[in-house]
Amino acid sequence: MKNEINILIVDDTPSIHEDYKQILNPQLHKTNLYEFSDIFDIKPANTKIPDTPTYILDHAYQGEEAIELVKQSKANNKPYALAFIDVCMPPGLDGIETISKIWEIDKNIEIIICTAFSNYSWESIIDKLGITNNFMILKKPFDIIEVKQMTLSLTSKWQLSCENKEFINQIKKNQTELNKARLVAEENSKIKSDFISIISHELKTPLTAILGYTDLLISNAKDTNNLNQICQCDCNAIRRIDINAHKLNDLIKDILLISNIESGTINCNIAFFYPQQTIERIVDGFKNLIENKHLTIKNYIKNEDIYINSDRVKFETIVTNIISNAIKFTKNGSIDIECNIDEKFFYVSIRDTGIGIPKDKFNIIFENFRQVDQKLTRDYTGTGIGLAIAMRMAQLLGGGIKLESQEGVGSIFTLYLKRDLDNCHQTTKAYND
Ligand code: ADP
Repeated sequence: MKNEINILIVDDTPSIHEDYKQILNPQLHKTNLYEFSDIFDIKPANTKIPDTPTYILDHAYQGEEAIELVKQSKANNKPYALAFIDVCMPPGLDGIETISKIWEIDKNIEIIICTAFSNYSWESIIDKLGITNNFMILKKPFDIIEVKQMTLSLTSKWQLSCENKEFINQIKKNQTELNKARLVAEENSKIKSDFISIISHELKTPLTAILGYTDLLISNAKDTNNLNQICQCDCNAIRRIDINAHKLNDLIKDILLISNIESGTINCNIAFFYPQQTIERIVDGFKNLIENKHLTIKNYIKNEDIYINSDRVKFETIVTNIISNAIKFTKNGSIDIECNIDEKFFYVSIRDTGIGIPKDKFNIIFENFRQVDQKLTRDYTGTGIGLAIAMRMAQLLGGGIKLESQEGVGSIFTLYLKRDLDNCHQTTKAYND
């Protein structure tokens, strides 16, 4: 694109306008520089004309006329980058008054104040125009080099400032669009959370009835034959209903839990407890499963006396989720549990010799409903919600979960929690912020 820049020349002497034309657009006016009027301090210049921008010059001979041209240029969206303004222009407005009125119309125009003698002191110019870097002073007789270079510098400055303004406007526009998108996303997320919460509650009511009646049937029956008779069918059927109804109940509980964590409606119950005792109890609960899978589990407890001030139930949920995954994703070998402390944190590392996790999945498995294998026909059951709950809860307790893993070798999930979570009434939202 051709680089065209609009410049306004304001001077009451017509011959000076001709000189500006020849200095600023030598491509259009191939003139002998010696023919300039005597206000220019002329030096011979036989050098090649460089490829400077093309200056489009407009001419005014009085201040009022200049003000009119600035109005028009602004209205036509062809603003002036620069104006050369003579100070003394009888009988009309003088240069300084003209500049002040021009800037009321377009405050971006760069100005070169041209003066033969000091009609105005610098202080009185500043007094009238304010402290600004938008003007320079050029003393007559002019030096051609000065005129050329000042023009180049000030028009470049004007262009840069236009680009900056455009850039800032674009950033502001992007910011507004981002804010709008964020509000829509927040609204959608709230609708999703409300929907999940309502559906889960609706599912929970009939499920509670199913669980209640199957439990009642099973506990009323004295033995298997009696159960067969009561149900008038194979008692295994009723046991399967019971097992699956419990699974469904667990899933709904998890979904409700994550929805509460996301909406920030979950608080901590902080009290002192011995985390290693809690771990022992959890491991005990997995005993049958571990034996059935012929795995070994080692719990390296160093110092049973360590106690922490945190939320025991949440701690139990996190560790249970990690150990249950370790068992699920390990075919042979062992699961090792180790605890550590430092000044601020309590650590539990759960190491397995299972299938391992590819590096590019390290982050996503902590997101809701995400699994390494997302296929419906995958080898392992699960909903992909356990680690999401575990991570959110760990964060809620002022900690997190670190993962190290190698495919085919195994994984280490290290939970770390603040040892002393005093007066914690924060919600997940508070932590995420
Ligand atoms: P789920 O186990 O119900 O699928 P989680 O959120 O607990 O959901 O785990 C998400 C995914 O992370 C799992 O589906 C699995 O792909 C991967 N994963 C978690 N723990 C392990 C582990 N110990 N070994 C291998 N993969 C694991």
